[in-house]
Amino acid sequence: MSRVRVILLNAALGPLDYRLPHGAAAEPGSIVLAPLGPRQMTGVVWEPDRVQTEEVGDNRLRPLLQVYDLPPLSEPLRRLIDWTSNYYLAPLASVLRMSLASSSALDGARTVTEYRPTGHVPDRLTPQRKQALDRIDGRQGLVRELALAADVSDGVIRGLVKSGAIEAVEVSVDDPFPRPNPDHHRPELEDAQRQAAREFVLAVQNAEFAPFLLDGVTGSGKTEVYFEAVAEALRMGSQTLVLLPEIALTEPFLKRFAARFGCEPVAWHSGLRQSQRRRAWRAIATGDAKVVVGARSSLFLPYRQLGLIVVDEAHETSFKQEDGVQYHARDVAVMRAKLEQVPVILASATPAIETRHMAEIGVYKEVKLPDRFGVAEMPDIEAIDLIHDPPPRGRWLAPTLVRELQENLERREQSLLFLNRRGYAPLTLCRHCGHRFQCPNCTAWMVEHRLVSRLACHHCGQMMPPPHACPECKEEDSLVPVGPGVERIADEVKALFPDARTAIVTSDTIWSPAKAAEFVARMEAGAIDIVVGTQLVTKGYHFPNLTLVGVVDADLGLSGGDLRAAERSFQQISQVSGRAGRGDKPGRVFVQTHEPGAPVISALVSGDAEGFYDAETEARREAAMPPFGRLAGIIVSSENLGEATETARLIARTAPTVENMAVFGPAPAPLAMLRGRHRQRLLVHAARSLPVQDIIRDWLGKLDWPRGVRVAVDVDPYSFL
Ligand code: ADP
Ligand code: ZN
Repeated sequence: MSRVRVILLNAALGPLDYRLPHGAAAEPGSIVLAPLGPRQMTGVVWEPDRVQTEEVGDNRLRPLLQVYDLPPLSEPLRRLIDWTSNYYLAPLASVLRMSLASSSALDGARTVTEYRPTGHVPDRLTPQRKQALDRIDGRQGLVRELALAADVSDGVIRGLVKSGAIEAVEVSVDDPFPRPNPDHHRPELEDAQRQAAREFVLAVQNAEFAPFLLDGVTGSGKTEVYFEAVAEALRMGSQTLVLLPEIALTEPFLKRFAARFGCEPVAWHSGLRQSQRRRAWRAIATGDAKVVVGARSSLFLPYRQLGLIVVDEAHETSFKQEDGVQYHARDVAVMRAKLEQVPVILASATPAIETRHMAEIGVYKEVKLPDRFGVAEMPDIEAIDLIHDPPPRGRWLAPTLVRELQENLERREQSLLFLNRRGYAPLTLCRHCGHRFQCPNCTAWMVEHRLVSRLACHHCGQMMPPPHACPECKEEDSLVPVGPGVERIADEVKALFPDARTAIVTSDTIWSPAKAAEFVARMEAGAIDIVVGTQLVTKGYHFPNLTLVGVVDADLGLSGGDLRAAERSFQQISQVSGRAGRGDKPGRVFVQTHEPGAPVISALVSGDAEGFYDAETEARREAAMPPFGRLAGIIVSSENLGEATETARLIARTAPTVENMAVFGPAPAPLAMLRGRHRQRLLVHAARSLPVQDIIRDWLGKLDWPRGVRVAVDVDPYSFL
């Protein structure tokens, strides 16, 4: 009688024991289908000595329904899942779910039925059907996927199938992916690049854990250099994972990769169709997918034979997952590399203080590229003092910046204005009574989006059409926008330069890889003169004719005031500056600020990154902040204010007394209400040496709170909202 312990894909369930059916074999890591009450659920066999469960007699065990014919999750991946669950205090099932991210990948079928428009217009064309056909616009996918894309019910799509306007197609899902060719187009490397590449190539050949910080200025050729390591992994037949911080960067990356290796790598991100997801998942699991480029979730996929991990733009805070399992993909990437015994390259022009520290103490090996490739020089950065050189009333671009834009237009070069605020205006108020539009579910203003004519909450997605009368005092046409967002800056640009071709680049306009590709193509074709964008345009892009960058409000990032505010501002402005002058024409950067003397601004203007980082690092060391100390946030939320407050107080009251650990709070979170839930925060600050997770697990494990209360622990928090 063989008993196996199984982790089911349901965070509310602990591990359960099952019986193997006669003749079946299942080693740890095997993916199985298990009965659960009247239902069936996917799970993975785990080592019984690693997870506890209730004792159940052999005679009461139910047999597993199926052991899938798929490679078992490898030992290093199982240990990564254990580690992530432990370190981030997340249920094993929630982490495991990220590894088995495609349920359709599990069954053996080789085709799926997808649907696509035929071009035939149905006799009965209801508004819903018309909307569906308009929005589907040549797309193909499952009924559900088409319904989502068209924002109609599944029934509307099925109706269209019946009427012949949409047809079914059998799609073969497991076509092999093309093999990237390591020698397709090898660049001639410069000396510093060649030395850096050599280090990486050797590390790949050694096939041992070796963490690197690739610290190279923007445009120094970091990508070309780590591509050499990818090429070596390809020659050795092993797989490479390249992590990118945003899906928007995937598309340009795919093109660039194809130019170097002859075909695109396998992409993994939330925008994949189910059939694409299945194909990618299976190819990753069998080792057929040689290079995978993806967002953070690709970190937990079951690579058959991983040989290298690259984290590009490794300083990006979007690698931190903020809901569900709250993990930091950069840190988990290093842990995966360690468990898999492979090199990991963290590439950045502005490495995080945490990463620099690891290089300083010799844990990570630092490889530097101090200069831009070829004749390109780093751009000059100049501050515009908004007190002495203010924009006219109701405008946001200072005369100096306007003049520079004008000259750049005359030279037929491209410009970029950066403002990290989506929409038209961050706040709308009534001129008559002062009423401000607040989200009903969140502690946040409703942001006006003029392009789509809506007020929207950036936290919960609540939308409303802009009313023409104030809901408070009923005065008509009394609402005024306060402050600028990118749409408003774009309006200002159009008013100043009516002939200039402008583009707004935010997550509202670039919501898919295809949209990003379209933007890149228009930039490259010279069809855009001035881009107005949010942080989405700060990284990755390489436009040789882009020579002028204006930072509209350099003080914006500093106002939040959390531990990393200055560092983040510095990184963001350095990155956006890094878009200027990447070709043979020199770049100029103008930074609008009310505080030209602030350390961040003077470091940017003088180019003294080292000085800035040293001062920031010292301040962290003195305050025992990360990486010199540990933080963990505890966020208590409930729809019931009293229950949230009571539970937060209970947690504070029962905090254990531990040397070198302090617990702050509770206090209402800055985002005191989010999606209709009241939020309270506590912050645990502890010495590096303390096992904070164990302490918190013991502490919270003993407590009970009302059912509607949620207590989330955020280990190594990046957001303090
Ligand atoms: P980074 O990632 O450091 O910002 P990139 O790798 O994007 O820099 O390089 C900047 C530009 O210079 C890219 O267009 C890249 O193709 C080009 N480049 C860099 N190194 C070389 C090289 N050795 N040969 C040819 N082109 C190069
Ligand atoms: Zn909201």
